[in-house]
Amino acid sequence: MIDIERIRADFPILQKKIHGKPLVYLDNAATTQKPSMVLDKIQDFYAESYSNIHRGVHYLSEEASAAYEGARETVKNFIHAGSAREIVFTRGTTEAINLVADSFGRAFVDEGDEILLSEMEHHSNIVPWQMLCERQGARLKVVSFDDDGALLTDELKKKINERTKLISMTYVSNVLGTVNNVEEIIELAHAQDVPVLIDGAQAVQHFPVDVQDLGCDFFAFSGHKMYAETGIGVLYGKEKWLEDMPPYHGGGGMITRVGFDRTTYAGLPYKFEAGTGSIGAAVSLSAAMEYLKEIGLENVSAYERGLINDAAARVEDLHGVTVYGKNADRCSVISFNLENVHSYDAGAVLDKLGIAVRTGKLCAEPVMEHFGVSGMVRASFAVYNTQEETDRLIQGIRQVQSMMGR
Ligand code: PMP
Repeated sequence: MIDIERIRADFPILQKKIHGKPLVYLDNAATTQKPSMVLDKIQDFYAESYSNIHRGVHYLSEEASAAYEGARETVKNFIHAGSAREIVFTRGTTEAINLVADSFGRAFVDEGDEILLSEMEHHSNIVPWQMLCERQGARLKVVSFDDDGALLTDELKKKINERTKLISMTYVSNVLGTVNNVEEIIELAHAQDVPVLIDGAQAVQHFPVDVQDLGCDFFAFSGHKMYAETGIGVLYGKEKWLEDMPPYHGGGGMITRVGFDRTTYAGLPYKFEAGTGSIGAAVSLSAAMEYLKEIGLENVSAYERGLINDAAARVEDLHGVTVYGKNADRCSVISFNLENVHSYDAGAVLDKLGIAVRTGKLCAEPVMEHFGVSGMVRASFAVYNTQEETDRLIQGIRQVQSMMGR
């Protein structure tokens, strides 16, 4: 069970008034707000333990290194990876996917090979693969979804072939809220020896994820969407792949020896972590994971499911509103348009009412094209949102409609 009053009290920013109205923050798919526990941990780390890591023998360096490696261990346990060697810290999901596209691409993708994606991917799970295809002369194949927002699994089956080198798919769509059946996708892919990368940017903060249970080869996510700081994210990769992949960036920290004649690389995961990482942000990620564990991800999931199902049903019931992706298994996100109202105008009016939503193409232009729209309004929920806030959203939408003459 969730004690919503207690949770809300953990987030100082939720007390804020926007244009004189209590804030209703429904832009959580873009980024979440931070609880005091995370803010305090960041403050403590910089006040008590801060230094660069791994390079010094001095006390603070050891302390900071222990905090950083402790964070890696927390991440490993949070997603139940087999080993901390499989946890690579990155700047976020985007960098994690770029790392795989670059490094896996150089090692395993040749001319004429294929990378399989879905039509509902975020730009960060499209563009790195396009860049790889351009470099290597490979091809991008795309699996569509239906108007309910469900991935066409039959099409996926047909598109996997002996040229498919990797499938990269989102767990949860950041536009439609669809939760893809990644277990089935992974099973289908593995039956043909094709590895799978799961974009978990909209998943890990909403329900428990066990990468060993899933069996995925790679899994990427961002800290800032799960109550931690920006500038930190994670690439999980099965050791057997990471071992065989070349380094992504070169620099300090990822080597064992450097000479002008020859350089040798460090072991996992350091081979992929050139330069000074986001040390404080990694500590914040660890704190955010502890926070989520304290609430319990099963509880988060059950609470949010009630919230989003209720909100989706109520928005769908409104006259003159089109909801995109009426998929039953929806997570956190509801995207819609109001008849004859531009999404930016709707967002601007809602903002004046203290309601923060995202508008526009939502970094998923192919989804906009699918529905033939130039943009959408997106309300996305987190664990601190309430039904009263859904009431405010519904009232807000009605107000937009009456202001715009409907
Ligand atoms: N994938 C999905 C599904 C997302 O929703 C996002 C962020 N909106 C990203 C990838 C990119 O995440 P980041 O900008 O944190 O790298």
